[in-house]
Amino acid sequence: MRASLALALVLIGAAVRAEDAGQPVTFGSRASESFPVQAFGAGPRVVFDSGDSDPVSKPWNTVLIQGFLPDPSVSFEAERVGAASGWRPLEVHRFPNGRFWARARAAQGTGPLRLRALDAGASRDHVVDVYSVEAFVSNPETPGPAIPPSRGPRNLDAQRPFVHPRAEWKAVPATEPYTPDPLPWRITLHHSDGRYTRTLQESLDEVHFIQDFHIHGRGWIDIAYHFAVDPLGNIIEGRPEGMLGAHTLDDNEGNVGIVLLGDYQPPVNDRPTAPQLAAVAALGRYLVARYGIFPDALKGHRDYKVTDCPGDRAYATLPALRRALANTPQPGLARARRAAAALSGLAGGSFDAAATSGR
Ligand SMILES: [Zn+2]
Repeated sequence: MRASLALALVLIGAAVRAEDAGQPVTFGSRASESFPVQAFGAGPRVVFDSGDSDPVSKPWNTVLIQGFLPDPSVSFEAERVGAASGWRPLEVHRFPNGRFWARARAAQGTGPLRLRALDAGASRDHVVDVYSVEAFVSNPETPGPAIPPSRGPRNLDAQRPFVHPRAEWKAVPATEPYTPDPLPWRITLHHSDGRYTRTLQESLDEVHFIQDFHIHGRGWIDIAYHFAVDPLGNIIEGRPEGMLGAHTLDDNEGNVGIVLLGDYQPPVNDRPTAPQLAAVAALGRYLVARYGIFPDALKGHRDYKVTDCPGDRAYATLPALRRALANTPQPGLARARRAAAALSGLAGGSFDAAATSGR
């Protein structure tokens, strides 16, 4: 199948309900890959071969990868191990800053996959990073069953902390009308498995990238999460509050999705910063007060399904975050400071780019 036809079919299939991602694919237990590309001149030639992935147990018909691609000369192909169909090109969407996602469709089935990269003539030596590989069935799915919510008292005057609006990251409109979800009763913390950003502008660019990845890569109607929080403590609007999210498979109803920008899982091990955790706590206190959400209903993505998300280092902050939300619908300043101080003990301290992976 020609790549352009594959993309057209993907776009036709974009009428997908708000859902979560597919199963992560690992290679010898590694969730990410890096490989060097040397300036060579004429191509194409294979510059990376993953070998067979670890077993992929659930059926899949789509391979989706994302990462950092410094030179547009590199392309990707994937195959289902043992299938007769052979290598299929991935449609690459590369942004000017090098962030990229790429996907390919295949006949539906199970089994491991293999990924390779080809270079058509890089102009300089560089390193390509594949942050994640996933395989899933991109067919319409329906939201899971709604759980009867229970909630505490609501404070309709609760003040939302400052949130950078969608216009700041040049969001495109959702591809379909949202499903209203006006009374959330739970909050789920994620990590983006992407860039650990250093400036507000980098964060806005990353959120813009994630929206494109979610709409055109995963076939959703918009970015999955309601809020993104970067390592500097900026809160950035994702899907509008009050609309059904797409971040936790079968459990999106009544669920506010908050994503930390970065990868907080080994081997990358980005560190949540004190300003970042204080921002999550401020946002969480607002949500708890506004909707009467119980603080214990703040959970990590991994509490719902088999996933690393939000990464060990972010997951470890959840008990302190819940305490910061407990019984503080509108905390006084001193109380907020105490909560922030308690959180900073868990954080990586001040923002420290040197302590991170370099993503
Ligand atoms: Zn997640």
